[in-house]
Amino acid sequence: MDILRYTPAVLSATLIGLCGATFPATATAQADVQPAEVTLSDTEQAMIAWVDENRQAILDELEQHVGMNTGTENIAGLDAYRDLLQADLEQLGFETETFPAPSVEILTCAGGEMAFADNLVGTMRGDSTRRIFMNGHMDTVFPASDEFQSLVIEEDGTLKGPGVGDMKGGIVVMLNALRAVQAQGLLADGHITVAFNSDEEIGSLGSRELLLSLAKDHDIGLIYEPSPPGKMTRSRKGLGQARLKITGREAHAGANHEQGVSANLELAHKVIEIEKLTDYEAGSTVNTGTMSGGEKRNTIPGCAEAYIDMRYLTAEAGEKLKNGIEEIAASTFVSNPDYPEFPTTESWVVLHRPAKPPHDEVDALIAQAMGLSKLLGDDPIVETNVSGGGTDGSIVQSAGLPTIDGLGLNGTGIHSSREASTVDTLIERTKMAAIMLARQIQSGQ
Ligand SMILES: [Zn+2]
Repeated sequence: MDILRYTPAVLSATLIGLCGATFPATATAQADVQPAEVTLSDTEQAMIAWVDENRQAILDELEQHVGMNTGTENIAGLDAYRDLLQADLEQLGFETETFPAPSVEILTCAGGEMAFADNLVGTMRGDSTRRIFMNGHMDTVFPASDEFQSLVIEEDGTLKGPGVGDMKGGIVVMLNALRAVQAQGLLADGHITVAFNSDEEIGSLGSRELLLSLAKDHDIGLIYEPSPPGKMTRSRKGLGQARLKITGREAHAGANHEQGVSANLELAHKVIEIEKLTDYEAGSTVNTGTMSGGEKRNTIPGCAEAYIDMRYLTAEAGEKLKNGIEEIAASTFVSNPDYPEFPTTESWVVLHRPAKPPHDEVDALIAQAMGLSKLLGDDPIVETNVSGGGTDGSIVQSAGLPTIDGLGLNGTGIHSSREASTVDTLIERTKMAAIMLARQIQSGQ
């Protein structure tokens, strides 16, 4: 297997090249989307009945999926989960193929690189001319060592578990929507590509190129990420991430203090400057999520590192944050005239998820989802949402593919041990997904 190794500089150039050109600014305020009037056909009623008949099997499947740990770094866990999904897709009549993900070098004091599990792509090539791209990420933020490892179904129908919303629930919705459509004999006509990737939670650094290349050959993107209760996500902030690694000069903190150059002190100055880049009015924020440095109390620290998150509303604002961090990385705050070669700073700054602005075709699908949700249950989608988090929807829409990316469960407490949804939502969203998928297939017939 050929593992392509990106250096941070190459990766950065690649991402920026892709991000720079395609994202229009979206400053104008737009009226919210209103629910569409929808009526259900006999076929659609039959799909709803299929989902109701399979309610327990759907719930059991969610329990199985949630119980399989797929933290992004748990390659063995992701391999096992991917094998399960591959068998499910083949059962549905998809041709499947796995794609290795290039590993990424990480800029830390310890050094090393981050490896990713292979990605899975299923293709169905029926007669419909509407080319549909469906995507879900297999990984969660919960490592194999986490205490939160299985699904709990409470008496009131609350579902709690790692990834129940983000997005094992969404993947179970996808699979059962496909089955419900198949049960009506409609699936084989579909021109559908299903992509399951392994690294969304760390920014899709290994699957990005695959997603971009798939996106180009499709007409509509359907992504089953969670949305907040009662809402459908319409637009998303852009995301970036940065690493800084400072090298100082170690020295004994007592005997030779004056011969040291503290990497920690240099990093501290830089972090204070970087945090000043937050501009709430512009919708731009910076967060130094982790920082560490040094090895011993009595040694001037020779290395320090930080890992930083950026959020922004437009491509221009993203570039501004990126330039700001690079400028600060290039400045020096601590000096020792006897050792002018220290400190040194290496930086890696990427805008890995472009801002995802509203899109007319996506708004039409949101309106359809809102209309359907009113018919399907008592938890209707009543308004849209601007999310501060990015997804693979941001990546594929940046390649020109109109993409709706909040089709999964209503989720709360995402990325925490409080992550939860409900049985009713699971069932309603499966019905909604089946109807929307069938309508997409039929629109190309
Ligand atoms: Zn997610």
